Amino acid sequence: MLNKCILYYISICYYDKIRLGVCMESIYNITYKCLEDYFVSIGEKKYKAKQLYDWIYVKRIKEFDNISNIKKDVIERLKKDFYFDKIEIINKEIDIDVKKYLLKLNDSKTIEAVLMEHDYGTSLCISSQVGCNMNCSFCESGRIKKQRDVTAGEMVLELLTIENDIKSRISHVVIMGIGEPFDNYVNITNFVEIVNHPLGIALGSRHITISTCGIIPKIYEFSEFPYQVNLAISLHAPNDELRSKLMPINKVYKLDDLIKSIKYYVSKTNRRVTFEYIMLDNINDSKELAIELSKLLKNINCYVNLIPYNETDNLGYKRSSKENILKFYDTLKKNNINVTIRREFGRKISAACGQLKSSKESL
Ligand code: SAH
Repeated sequence: MLNKCILYYISICYYDKIRLGVCMESIYNITYKCLEDYFVSIGEKKYKAKQLYDWIYVKRIKEFDNISNIKKDVIERLKKDFYFDKIEIINKEIDIDVKKYLLKLNDSKTIEAVLMEHDYGTSLCISSQVGCNMNCSFCESGRIKKQRDVTAGEMVLELLTIENDIKSRISHVVIMGIGEPFDNYVNITNFVEIVNHPLGIALGSRHITISTCGIIPKIYEFSEFPYQVNLAISLHAPNDELRSKLMPINKVYKLDDLIKSIKYYVSKTNRRVTFEYIMLDNINDSKELAIELSKLLKNINCYVNLIPYNETDNLGYKRSSKENILKFYDTLKKNNINVTIRREFGRKISAACGQLKSSKESL
């Protein structure tokens, strides 16, 4: 734990040094355990971590000078070692049950976050990278190459910034925005640790979902991750030939091996996985493919989420007809696969991954 903290601290420190020209750490990057270690390392008591987390995540202050129960010299030291990073909302599009945000990071790079209203609460879809290298052929995000990872602290700030905008708490977070979370593993797991901490934001781990295109080594690593976070796999096709056409990552991590890693994850964690399957007209929506998918997923503790494709101007794919989506759904049901059809959000405001960013930036 300590090693991970220190390694992380050092790498982030260098990272920020390059990025900001200083060797300071964003306070939002710091897990509770790291903060305790930090206070001990400067000769202070561990419990100061509790006070600081309360100021930052419960009272939501944005300057060290607003803290009233920590001694002045400790505050001065904190100011030397850490800073309050910021994210700015530069565009907001609003539909009935969805708000889509374009956010500017400290180095002026932009990412997206989408807030959705459900009957069970609100969920925020956050970005994990600036751009994405996975190159899925149907996805707008892949048109914008990865420029850098989003840090754990920036992901925390995506949540804090939107909560501040709507003046209310968000109950669920899905890491399904721009980027591939398992290509940014340390930041993702630190993010979970930070937002889940009971003395801070206290977001329940079961209310967090991470979606991956299938980076197999990280699925094994994630099987050991001691938080009960939900895992979603972007599947989109039941065989290698079609999946490799849609998702180049499948050429590296083949379907059989992916399924093996998911079975391992389920056996280790006892958690049900979600398979996301976007419905593309005439590409992956036939009855034969529904049968093939049922066979592939037989005996796995999972459910399939059929996602009506959000069409974009640039990529040429069409959404499957309602009728075909229902037929596909029925075939899976008949074959005893748990299946749902995703409710649609924000069709009017181009809510699919990467669409807002790419519409605001010339590519
Ligand atoms: N890289 C991760 C997370 C980001 S994409 C992953 O692949 O899971 C989040 C989900 O949105 C994925 O299932 C992706 O395939 C899907 N998606 C991308 N573009 C879409 C679109 N235009 N319409 C509907 N879903 C889309």
